[in-house]
Amino acid sequence: MSEGIDTEGKIECFCCGKELTNWAYDVTLRNGGRSFVSVHPMGGLHFETYGHYGSRIFDPMDGKGTKLDIAICDECIIEKVKRVHGTGFNHVREAALEENVEYKKEKDAEDAWLIEAIETQLKELDNND
Ligand SMILES: [Zn+2]
Repeated sequence: MSEGIDTEGKIECFCCGKELTNWAYDVTLRNGGRSFVSVHPMGGLHFETYGHYGSRIFDPMDGKGTKLDIAICDECIIEKVKRVHGTGFNHVREAALEENVEYKKEKDAEDAWLIEAIETQLKELDNND
């Protein structure tokens, strides 16, 4: 459960710089502990990293939870949907189709090819239901 949500903050999209409303709040964890959420953008997604071996710029390994937070607006994610990876990829593809299919088709032929491939796949999924 959350309490005392600060909804007045702002955070810029990492890609385009668009200003997003950012929520910040304390949450009670399942184990009863507390955690402060400092980045929760409206109209976008939050990505965090604690760094890792292989990065030339961020691998603190300090045991203090030092991390980086990045917000990316939904539009930028839709625009680069081909570069999205992970088990939630289908959710993003469907959202991209629903919100932006005509724009994507006009934008460039390669994206149009992707959109058509996704539309075909979704139709097949619908037919299997
Ligand atoms: Zn953006």
